[in-house]
Amino acid sequence: MATTNARTTYRICTLPGDGIGPEIMAEAKRVMATIGEIWGVELVCEDHLIGGAAIDATREAGVAPTALPEETLEAARAADAVLLAAVGGPKWDTNDPAAARPEQGLLGIRKGLGLYLNLRPVHVFNALRGASSLKREVLNGVDIMIVRELTGGLYFGPREVEEARPGAGEDGAPGRWRMDGCAYSEHEIRRVLERAFEIAETRARKRLCSVDKANVLGTSKLWRAIAHELAADHPTVELTDMFVDNCAMQLVANPAQFDVIATENTFGDILSDEASELTGSLGMLASASLGEGTSLFEPAHGSAPDIAGKGIANPLAQLLSVSLMLRQALGMPDAADAVEAAVEDVLDDGWRTVDIADETTPAENVLGTSAMADKVIERLRV
Ligand code: NAD
Repeated sequence: MATTNARTTYRICTLPGDGIGPEIMAEAKRVMATIGEIWGVELVCEDHLIGGAAIDATREAGVAPTALPEETLEAARAADAVLLAAVGGPKWDTNDPAAARPEQGLLGIRKGLGLYLNLRPVHVFNALRGASSLKREVLNGVDIMIVRELTGGLYFGPREVEEARPGAGEDGAPGRWRMDGCAYSEHEIRRVLERAFEIAETRARKRLCSVDKANVLGTSKLWRAIAHELAADHPTVELTDMFVDNCAMQLVANPAQFDVIATENTFGDILSDEASELTGSLGMLASASLGEGTSLFEPAHGSAPDIAGKGIANPLAQLLSVSLMLRQALGMPDAADAVEAAVEDVLDDGWRTVDIADETTPAENVLGTSAMADKVIERLRV
């Protein structure tokens, strides 16, 4: 099979992390090795420490415990892509506010790589339509890419705190008062929307729905204005606008209408969680964070400590993160398509891990982590 990219060697910084992380990362590496063989490229994986594993290793080495060693960040910056599994677990849960915590590794690497937008593909696999709480017919053909701004808006805007603001209590008495401000610069909006247009251009339907609250918010008016300015440079993309409250309703009423959705930080946070329920399963969701330099790819789920070491974790979100990486960071859309098609075929053939099995699944079709990856690899080789 031909690759659309001339390069032959890519360096992937792999971060297995904690819990089921190392188990699902091992399967991702086997799939990457298969992709390498089929497409004639070398995906060179180099493991680095993050999360609880990094805290333990640095503590054992007698240095200050950290969830993100400097060499991990350096390796991530130097790589063509970062593939993360998951971090965290009860072992590192503590009431000591000064202790290093696994999630500091995640926040640190996102900041260190300057990641400013998040991608959340929401693809409803035909065979898993029954897993969602929505009616099967509503889920027909759902394939959405949510593009969310990650570093601006309400979560990072100016804050004010007053414990006794005059008039904030009852009958004009002083009372507690809080303000979280939402701010966006043209630059912050433009770089996200440019990426959203580019992504829409690569998709079959080429539709971009820009979601805002431009009837009320100044930041949304700016968002909408920039979306329409950029539309002129992307004539093949059909741009529509939608208010966020309507979008929240449309996502459950008629989700198949959406192709690419682009929105600001807070709206994206809420809409991407809502949309993930369309798939009905956490073990199937990949995500990516992109910025100026190296991009990071990871499953949307956590480290699942309750099933760690049992060999039953669903590796498919991790494998779909590999596909997202092939498409968004390595310029290998054919290989990405092949991974997604292989996952679809394996599910259509009735194979399941325990988290996506239901009462109709024959016991012999319920596979462990490695056996599920074997099925995907078999399909890739067909
Ligand atoms: P979780 O996503 O780890 O697990 C929630 C439930 O889903 C569990 O029952 C788990 O067994 C199941 N599950 C998750 N992934 C699965 C998979 N691939 N296959 C089969 N079942 C799967 O969320 P949680 O339990 O809230 O958090 C556990 C730990 O993960 C915590 O320490 C949390 O901080 C951390 N966490 C990490 C990330 C990340 O690394 N990005 C994200 C969320 C939570």
